[in-house]
Amino acid sequence: MLQQIIPIHHGKLLTREELDAYDPAAEPWQKQFSRRYTHHAELYGILNHVEKVDESVYSQFSVAITPYMAQLMDRDDPNCPLRLQYLPTRNEESKPGFQTMLDELGEEGDTIPGTSVVHRYPRRVLFLVSNTCASLCRFCTRKRMVSQPDGSVHKDEIERSIDYIAGNKDIDDVLLSGGDPLTFSDERLDEILGELRRRAPHVRFLRIGSRMVVQLPTRVTPELCAVLERHRVQMINIHINHPKEITPLLRERVKLIQKAGIMMGLQTVCLKGVNDDVAVMRELFMQSLEMGVRPYYVYSTDMVEGAHHFIVPHHRMLELYEGLRGWISGPAVPTFIVDGLGGLGKLPIIPQYVREELRADGTGTTVKCRNYAGRTVEMPGLGLDFRVPSRTN
Ligand code: SF4
Repeated sequence: MLQQIIPIHHGKLLTREELDAYDPAAEPWQKQFSRRYTHHAELYGILNHVEKVDESVYSQFSVAITPYMAQLMDRDDPNCPLRLQYLPTRNEESKPGFQTMLDELGEEGDTIPGTSVVHRYPRRVLFLVSNTCASLCRFCTRKRMVSQPDGSVHKDEIERSIDYIAGNKDIDDVLLSGGDPLTFSDERLDEILGELRRRAPHVRFLRIGSRMVVQLPTRVTPELCAVLERHRVQMINIHINHPKEITPLLRERVKLIQKAGIMMGLQTVCLKGVNDDVAVMRELFMQSLEMGVRPYYVYSTDMVEGAHHFIVPHHRMLELYEGLRGWISGPAVPTFIVDGLGGLGKLPIIPQYVREELRADGTGTTVKCRNYAGRTVEMPGLGLDFRVPSRTN
């Protein structure tokens, strides 16, 4: 168990009145970053009905909420989908009837020693560059490192990681993540991306995972976009779980990224009480598509410590998928994923729309299809005929 919490230095915190009048676009992102609320007691005058949690919750995971995020939260409703994602609750103090872990995805086991590179798949790697985020999600899958004092990624680790990628010509896809790579200054990002591009020209696809774009949209500036464009970052995946997170300011900054020629994808975590609802998901994915951000993955909640109350059962995830496929625009339907325990990797889940069955006379198989609205059709021509030689060679 990690016992310490990271010391976070404050700028002046905004009072409720100041927050009501606050224009998040009017001050530099670094200033807003320093004004984050980092304890539930700091929110007592800001939001009503804030749950008092035991201090032990902080030994597991810190709290951080940007003023912009706090502004979006419902003042009175403790079940506001944004409050649920960022405010600690007493649920985190209870234990579930199954085992939870700090590294549920087994990333440490696939980390190259001396580096922060997780090399699990043959040609692509996850490069963890930072352990800091603008706001901290209660269900974070990387609680083992995010916001933890002993989880920070050192400069020499980043160097060795670039060495590793440079020396492995098979790696053609690199995802920078963390924490959040955009918590770095433009200058530092420029250095890391520049070194990576210079020393690993075999990398064909360079992408960044960032929730900071959503939690503190003013981080996206023309200067940042120039850095990303200079080093040919080809994709940025953002993370949104509820339509309330899509604001005019976010749309404006997403446009800046898109103008730099960068593709954008959306990742979502399926969270009980936040978005385990067909109408919410339909709206989220259509709004995302409207702003040109392609819904990519919906993840099941990982079995990380303190997040069990967010887990949506597998069967419900399948129902949610059924509520999307066919009912909203095809490109708005993401792939639903279970991230296999202990490092099994990303496993797509999909309801059964097409089924192959043995014919009653045992002479072959037939394929039975069901569409989104429940209509069925049989396609015997797609089945196998055991009476004729195999068509595979
Ligand atoms: S933004 Fe991502 S890495 Fe950061 S706390 Fe949230 S889930 Fe974890």
